Amino acid sequence: MVKKYVYFFSEGDKSMKELLGGKGANLAEMTNIGIPVPSGFTITTESCAYFSHEKNWPAELEEQIKKNVEKLENEMDVKFGDAKNPLLVSVRSGAAASMPGMMDTILNLGMNDETVVAMAAKTGNERFAWDSYRRFIQMFGDVVMEVERRSFEKVLENAKETKGVNYDTELDASDMKKVVAKYKEVVKKHAGKDFPQKPWDQLKLSINAVFNSWNNERAITYRKLNNIHGLLGTAVNIQSMVFGNMGETSGTGVCFSRDPATGKNEFYGEYLMNAQGEDVVAGIRTPLHISDLNKKMPKQYAELVAIREKLEKHYKDMQDMEFTIQEGKLYMLQTRNGKRTTHAAVKIAVDMVKEKLIDEKTAVLRVSPDGLDQLLHKTIDPIARKRAKLLAKGLPASPGSVVGSIVFNAERAEEAAAKGEKVILVRTETSPEDIKGMNAAQGILTARGGMTSHAAVVARGMGKCCVSGCSDIKVKEDEKKLIIQDVILKEGDFLTLDGSTGEVFDGKIPLVDPEMSGDFAIIMKWADGFRRLKVRTNADTPHDSKVARGFGAEGIGLCRTEHMFFEGDRIKAVREMIVAETLEGRKKALSKLLPMQRGDFVGIFTEMKGLPVTIRLLDPPLHEFLPNTPEDQEELAKEMNVPVEKIKSKVEELHEFNPMLGHRGCRLGIIFPEISEMQARAIFEAAAEVKKKGIDVIPEVMVPLVGIVKELKLQKDLIIKVAEEVMKERNIKIEYTIGTMIEVPRAAITADEIATEADFFSFGTNDLTQMGLGLSRDDAGKFLGKYVDLGIYKRDPFQALDQEGVGELMRIAVEKGRKVKPKLKCGICGEHGGEPSSVEFCHRIGLDYVSCSPYRVPIARLAAAQAAIREK
Ligand code: PEP
Ligand code: MG
Repeated sequence: MVKKYVYFFSEGDKSMKELLGGKGANLAEMTNIGIPVPSGFTITTESCAYFSHEKNWPAELEEQIKKNVEKLENEMDVKFGDAKNPLLVSVRSGAAASMPGMMDTILNLGMNDETVVAMAAKTGNERFAWDSYRRFIQMFGDVVMEVERRSFEKVLENAKETKGVNYDTELDASDMKKVVAKYKEVVKKHAGKDFPQKPWDQLKLSINAVFNSWNNERAITYRKLNNIHGLLGTAVNIQSMVFGNMGETSGTGVCFSRDPATGKNEFYGEYLMNAQGEDVVAGIRTPLHISDLNKKMPKQYAELVAIREKLEKHYKDMQDMEFTIQEGKLYMLQTRNGKRTTHAAVKIAVDMVKEKLIDEKTAVLRVSPDGLDQLLHKTIDPIARKRAKLLAKGLPASPGSVVGSIVFNAERAEEAAAKGEKVILVRTETSPEDIKGMNAAQGILTARGGMTSHAAVVARGMGKCCVSGCSDIKVKEDEKKLIIQDVILKEGDFLTLDGSTGEVFDGKIPLVDPEMSGDFAIIMKWADGFRRLKVRTNADTPHDSKVARGFGAEGIGLCRTEHMFFEGDRIKAVREMIVAETLEGRKKALSKLLPMQRGDFVGIFTEMKGLPVTIRLLDPPLHEFLPNTPEDQEELAKEMNVPVEKIKSKVEELHEFNPMLGHRGCRLGIIFPEISEMQARAIFEAAAEVKKKGIDVIPEVMVPLVGIVKELKLQKDLIIKVAEEVMKERNIKIEYTIGTMIEVPRAAITADEIATEADFFSFGTNDLTQMGLGLSRDDAGKFLGKYVDLGIYKRDPFQALDQEGVGELMRIAVEKGRKVKPKLKCGICGEHGGEPSSVEFCHRIGLDYVSCSPYRVPIARLAAAQAAIREK
């Protein structure tokens, strides 16, 4: 059978996204449920994949396209290139995942010197025909012939200037004719060829340009930033044109079935009369609110509202729709599940459950765990806000508040962010080329463009604060100036943006941490009901423990005791311990550290009231604590009253070529048992003290970097000895467990032996990735980005678990460990414990809990719930 590469809209449906792309599948679906959609067909993503690989069309493709064009001609009663009744089409990209503005679109295809005359005669609207022709040359010239857009824009600006008008709409037919002639000259000059007149040539070239746009730089960057992997390519939709620029009873717009920023159940959108789609999205003219359409065209507005309801009920999700009205007749050009802020996602999900459109499981799946970061964004301190100087107000395009210094272009934003500076990218309008800079900036401010402009859509997707369409400001990118009435700001000056209200303030205003409540709490409650994994936190201070409890942490999965060694005066005692020559000297220094560590643990146990707390013994190599500069060495020598040479030689003695594989982890406690003894004593004395106050404590002592069971056994014996001593001294019984990190590959492989001595395993996937992949945690960053670009790793393995490699080590360890101890508790405390795809993996291999930094606790809770729901 001949492979099918082309589907007429009536042949597809919404389940065929992989093959027809999101746009194509939904155009087919809308056609089938009786929504007015201009006829057309879709060329499959498989065709694009074939083309990307072979640089050629599959043999059957041309014939299939021709057949479908004929079908379209018959249905519409028009003909491609006909001098009386020409078929005009749009050519649009559309992959399985939405990538707004990243790939190419061409409208009005089929226009040429002959058909433009036919269109003028047919519509009785000469201006419209020539305007459409010039738009086509511009888009085709830009996308297919790679002529700079700016060259066309200059011609149009000149035409307006010559005539002394401001808007394109003020140019008449004879002006447009001149523009067309000039555009053709521009094409000839820059592309070295004439603008093609044959519609079939135009079509073939456009299809190839759309195929090629799948692999343009901005599309690749977008996919990378949004973790879009494994797609075949883009589909190409060829659809008969309808025109929003046929005069004052025509128009075009973009609308959402609910507000995409707040989630309110209000019809939301923007439109322009007498315009084509790109005018709304490009943000060149600032569009009107959709409710205005009710005044201008009540019948069409009512029809649009009815379609909004029908589509939302049909898809059971918030829809992002595009429409065009051609001389009073409404057509839908697109529908898709709308991108939304997390705030809106949460509200819509909860509301839709109340409206009985979806169930609770679906609601939980509707909120992206990664996006929860947005809810955790800071807001402007309400008191400071009263005193703040409001400079301007734009549209609240994407929520959260940020403070940063001004930069005027994307490259500067990237440079500054690389240096750790916080910047706000200020632009007249953004374009897809700015995407990396937008990602690097804290927030984005634009002078032009609506809520559906490029800046707004992309910022919402990234969870970045954005104020768009701020018409009070003038941005002079070339002069690096931002002008707001009589205020002139330069690069480096500070602004504060509130993306939830659209306000722009002068200078730096204090921000406050977010609070979680309302709909968010409802979603999280549902999520908690579905998840099996427990979620703990990595915390080493009472403050972090408290924050994490507020976010729903169910215990501490990792308390890194070395962090406590760096605080205040402690480093002195630590250094004293390290340079001590004798056991006595070391013990003396350790006795100074004991009360400090005990105090830390008292604080943490008290904060975690009755929840398990995993405390890990000292992990990093000792030289990390030593003074490395001559000044510091001098100071320490003075303090300790020893010659500076002694300090220097100790530093040299402790130097390691490969410290990450050196004398660290349990190897320290084995060579210097007194360190582990002191830490164990601090833990149990603190536990005794807190328990005596009537607060329940569940200490879990964890031994790091174990590779062989004997290491664990030695440390365990020592911990038990100290525990017994303390319990006897304090006359109290404390329930405790002793376990180990699994972070050395050998430990994972011999987990059955290790389990004989361990009450629990906690996967240290930072080290397990380092040692499993042979990648230095500290240095791999220099080339890992390139590795990801080359597709060697799909994602940075230190961020998202390498499931096939490191994950397999984990799976083996769980299996082997539980063979020996069926109830062995297993968790993860590496950075991956708060990353959604890794959390899902941990669920699948049967871990008991994940542990992550406090701010990621809600992300992990939601990801764990989604993993459980998906599994069923
Ligand atoms: C790990 O290795 O994953 C871990 C949690 O320990 P650390 O990051 O402290 O080495
Ligand atoms: Mg580690």
